[in-house]
Amino acid sequence: MTRRGLLLILSSPSGAGKSTLSRRLMAWDPTLRFSVSATTRAPRPGEVDGRDYWFHSRPDFEAMVDAGQMLEHAEVFGNLYGSPRGPVEQAMAEGRDTLFDIDWQGGQQIRNSALGRDVVSIFILPPSIAELERRLVIRGQDSAEVIAGRMAKARAEISHWAEYDYVIVNRDLDASFDQLVTILTAERLRRDRQPWLTDFVRTLNRQVDAR
Ligand code: ADP
Ligand code: 5GP
Repeated sequence: MTRRGLLLILSSPSGAGKSTLSRRLMAWDPTLRFSVSATTRAPRPGEVDGRDYWFHSRPDFEAMVDAGQMLEHAEVFGNLYGSPRGPVEQAMAEGRDTLFDIDWQGGQQIRNSALGRDVVSIFILPPSIAELERRLVIRGQDSAEVIAGRMAKARAEISHWAEYDYVIVNRDLDASFDQLVTILTAERLRRDRQPWLTDFVRTLNRQVDAR
């Protein structure tokens, strides 16, 4: 009996490390599906259409929203971002878990949707604001102006930390990754996520009776 896939949502202020942690988690468990978001933001150097994001014009993005193709969508730092619905529903039906790297608005929309009971949400905090800024700078992919804009929004993003099931303070990357794996492993072991247990226990009972 296949269980429904769960929806693992990672949010954080920009630069706290959720893309890095997401990539490691995908490598750790290839059965996870990464929800490739659609965005109107321009690709960064090295970003690949269909792998990192689906890059769209604003009119195309708005048409997809109007057609009901987005599970959630929001304006973040002046661009539209959204999670395409189709791949998520397919993964859930196959019993595969989906990983989302989305902001607090997207997290709220999915949590408040019909899929809310399948959500496991994790907020990633930076160890300090100085370190957050350092990480945005060393990532080396945004202009000083864009970095300043993201720093200015950090406080607003952080203010949503208490809406999440789990919080990881991303000091040491290896330690944070271990915590992420621990959360996913524990959530998969929840009784209601193991529908085959009823049959399994019935079998155990038969074995007891047969002795
Ligand atoms: P986000 O996706 O949250 O915007 P990224 O994953 O892109 O953040 O991380 C921003 C930068 O910080 C990257 O250069 C990444 O390598 C670095 N980074 C992530 N986690 C840590 C950590 N625990 N310690 C030091 N640097 C980190
Ligand atoms: P970036 O431009 O750095 O890739 O992402 C900027 C912000 O947009 C991050 O906080 C990221 O989590 C968020 N984001 C990425 N994809 C989505 C999405 O599909 N929906 C929402 N709501 N936010 C997203």
